Amino acid sequence: MNDKKPPAITQKGKNVAGAMFRVAKQTLSGGRVLATDGEFQFRMTLCKSNVCGSFIESNMTCVVCGCFLDYKLSLTTEECPLGFWASIKE
Ligand code: SF4
Repeated sequence: MNDKKPPAITQKGKNVAGAMFRVAKQTLSGGRVLATDGEFQFRMTLCKSNVCGSFIESNMTCVVCGCFLDYKLSLTTEECPLGFWASIKE
């Protein structure tokens, strides 16, 4: 159980817009956008361990950013808001 509250809908919208901008920038620069299965699983293992105290298993979201982790973790451009895993640079 997690007592933390997710961000307000306006902040979630800003977070999604930021992610879309980073994906667009990465795409335009010819970089890889999608994480490999291994990269995705590495991130997911960290989130599911709840070392951050911010993982919500019932809907697979992060309470810090409010993101759906199935999507967030699949994008190379994204990073953990608390620094537990990084974006993927090549
Ligand atoms: S993205 Fe970071 S803060 Fe959010 S659930 Fe995963 S490890 Fe925790």
